[in-house]
Amino acid sequence: MRNVAASKKNVLNTAGRTSLHNHNLAIIAKAVITGSLPDPSRAYLAKITGLNRSTLSRLVEQLIAYGIIRELDSKNIGSGRPAVPLAPALHTYASIGVDIMRDSIEASVVDLSGQILAQQYLQTETEEAAKTLVLVGRIISDLHERARNADLIVVDVTAALHGYFDRNGTHLLSSPTLGWTDVDLARSLHIGREKKYMPAISFLNSADAGAYAENYLRNKHGEPLSDFLYVSGGSGIDAALMKNGSFDAGYHGWAGELGHVYVAEGTNVCSCGNTGCLESFAGQNAIMAASGFSQDSPIGNLFAALMRNETRASKAVASAADYLGLALADFVNICDVPTIVLDGLYSKLFEYLKEPLLLKLSKRVLSSKWAKINVLKSISTSNSVAFGAAWKGITKFIDTPSRWKKQIKNKLNYYPITDTPSVTLSE
Ligand SMILES: [Zn+2]
Repeated sequence: MRNVAASKKNVLNTAGRTSLHNHNLAIIAKAVITGSLPDPSRAYLAKITGLNRSTLSRLVEQLIAYGIIRELDSKNIGSGRPAVPLAPALHTYASIGVDIMRDSIEASVVDLSGQILAQQYLQTETEEAAKTLVLVGRIISDLHERARNADLIVVDVTAALHGYFDRNGTHLLSSPTLGWTDVDLARSLHIGREKKYMPAISFLNSADAGAYAENYLRNKHGEPLSDFLYVSGGSGIDAALMKNGSFDAGYHGWAGELGHVYVAEGTNVCSCGNTGCLESFAGQNAIMAASGFSQDSPIGNLFAALMRNETRASKAVASAADYLGLALADFVNICDVPTIVLDGLYSKLFEYLKEPLLLKLSKRVLSSKWAKINVLKSISTSNSVAFGAAWKGITKFIDTPSRWKKQIKNKLNYYPITDTPSVTLSE
């Protein structure tokens, strides 16, 4: 009996050591890959982890061998030994992120350094779930195949779309923005022969993906934000709340439907079927209509009209800002969030929205006399949703050292991903 107990204890100790070892590896990987200090040295990492220099050096060697981080040329700092800066490895692992919108699909392949290695954009001529998802499946298969041909290990595929997902996250219950109900997402993608090499595809709310991107990019720019409400305007208005560096998506994961908050009596029917929703006053369609443009006219027309100071367009945007401010003020009164980040259409309209929004917030948020609410423009310059979906996959991967693979040293070469899609994307 004693022997059995002793051996059990040993197994536990070994498991404990492995998990502590993996925990330390993940902390260092995260500090290099998502931390706000660019190219940290071993000394800095030893300081923030509390590990001694020799343990830390051993872990760093492992991270290099697994293709997670790389060494840059050494730099002379002061009179001591030159420091060797560490950076995320390039072109070892990659993640694919997809943004599924009502009339288009955008996808990105992102590596550990946050570099976008390939992108695909497709204007869809259909709003039907089945047809759109077949196209999404083709784009994913194509990017996956091209990434594999470039010798990258694809560690995650995440598609972002607006809507309510069931508990296991692969069945879409409803998406008012897309006009879809009851869709088995994973099955509808019809991934063919690539499937056996591909990680299982996961799905994410688009606002959460956008907020992931914002969080990562702000960190990388040395302007970290850990508590903010991310708001993305477009045909729908979605929000994601980040509290203390992590998401609060609500009990079922269905929080963030800012577009369907009641703001005023109205006659326009919202995509959810109700009237009076913020979306029907401040969504893209409402702004375009109030500016005198048809729903399908290009959004560029609105920007041109604003540049020309056309009264109708200016009034439409001011009115949208007013309703948006009303909804956001309620949110801040309830949730006490210090910062609001605007993305999507609202990021493009930022210079027109900011002042009226601040005014509304200072009037209606009771605590605003003691603490000013920050309204910021999203830092992202490209499609933040596709990037954020891919980045979520990267963060999951670097958190799980058991998934890392030892790299063959001479194989750490750079093969660019081919520009040309290898599958036909037309419908
Ligand atoms: Zn609604």
